[in-house]
Amino acid sequence: MTAVQEERTTDELKALAEQAGRDLEDASALEILRWAAGAFGGRFCVTSSMEDAVVAHLASRALPGVDVVFLDTGYHFEETIGTRDAVEAVMNVNVITLTPRQTVAEQDAEYGPRLHDRDPDLCCALRKVRPLEEGLRGYLAWATGLRREESPTRAGTPVVGWDEKRRKVKISPIARWTQDDMDAYVAEHGVLTNPLLTDGYASVGCAPCTRRVLEGQDARAGRWAGRGKTECGLHG
Ligand code: SF4
Repeated sequence: MTAVQEERTTDELKALAEQAGRDLEDASALEILRWAAGAFGGRFCVTSSMEDAVVAHLASRALPGVDVVFLDTGYHFEETIGTRDAVEAVMNVNVITLTPRQTVAEQDAEYGPRLHDRDPDLCCALRKVRPLEEGLRGYLAWATGLRREESPTRAGTPVVGWDEKRRKVKISPIARWTQDDMDAYVAEHGVLTNPLLTDGYASVGCAPCTRRVLEGQDARAGRWAGRGKTECGLHG
């Protein structure tokens, strides 16, 4: 394929994403994922932090056997790894676990211990952003579980948009969902959730950077608490 053809393909994908974002704004999550399955087939995946399996469950209804990509940073709670294993065992999805180039021990040897305390942006870049970029290379589109009500930084999330950084279509089928919508879907379909969600955590990330939240705080207030950081770089 020539550079011109690649460019045109990228332009077409971008136009497709922007049009779909407008057309599907009022569509249900399942309709959005059925559109993605039809448009991209096997070159579409879901990314999951294993906080819950809601988007993976929805996507498996639209595209049975869909790839579900999980980033194993080496810093996860054991409950998160257990949720990943349970999703792999019981759901009709293909779980793909991505790992950073360095183990935690190797990173500690090169950068010093507890990089997450001293330079969380670099730690996230090494353990999340780069592995995801490498892992998504073969896909044209990826789906996330971003929701607008989770935090001010997510309030403008489109249901389908263009990920300029990775030059892929980015789909957020539950962007409009409230926590009540999540709870209702989990209850109706018996969807797997991370046990930490019933132990005071509203959002689950790496153990060193995740705290329980207080009543009334937004869902992501327990992530990098007190460090002036709100996102890991995957969605910025
Ligand atoms: S969330 Fe914390 S431990 Fe995980 S990659 Fe980012 S800085 Fe490192």
